[in-house]
Amino acid sequence: MNTHYIRMNMKNMKTLITISMAACLYMLFTSSINPEREKPMTPSTHYYCEYCGHKFPSVRQLTSATCPRHPDGTNKGHHKLYEGSEKSEYTCKYCGKKFPSIQVMVGGLCVNHPKGSNKGGHAPAL
Ligand SMILES: [Zn+2]
Ligand SMILES: [Zn+2]
Repeated sequence: MNTHYIRMNMKNMKTLITISMAACLYMLFTSSINPEREKPMTPSTHYYCEYCGHKFPSVRQLTSATCPRHPDGTNKGHHKLYEGSEKSEYTCKYCGKKFPSIQVMVGGLCVNHPKGSNKGGHAPAL
């Protein structure tokens, strides 16, 4: 008869419910201990390197990575935190030229660079 089949089915249902409950609990648990999951939803501050303009989610990550535009040479030192605020445009502290981002700014040579004309890139004013 079908009794055996039904019993099996009930057992499967129980297993299924246990698994889905465990999954729910797991999701609750991970979301409560890992608030970073929601970070992309909230507007957060970004940290920029003064040398290369690379964007980082934290100062710690910025200062622990080597910078391809470090003044001592490529990857000869760590990124340097740009201490100014996030802006819609950045002004070069040597020549006053304006740029839409630090990354664009540092890619160009500065005619008023302290080491000499076009001897180095623009640098963002704070
Ligand atoms: Zn850098
Ligand atoms: Zn400049």
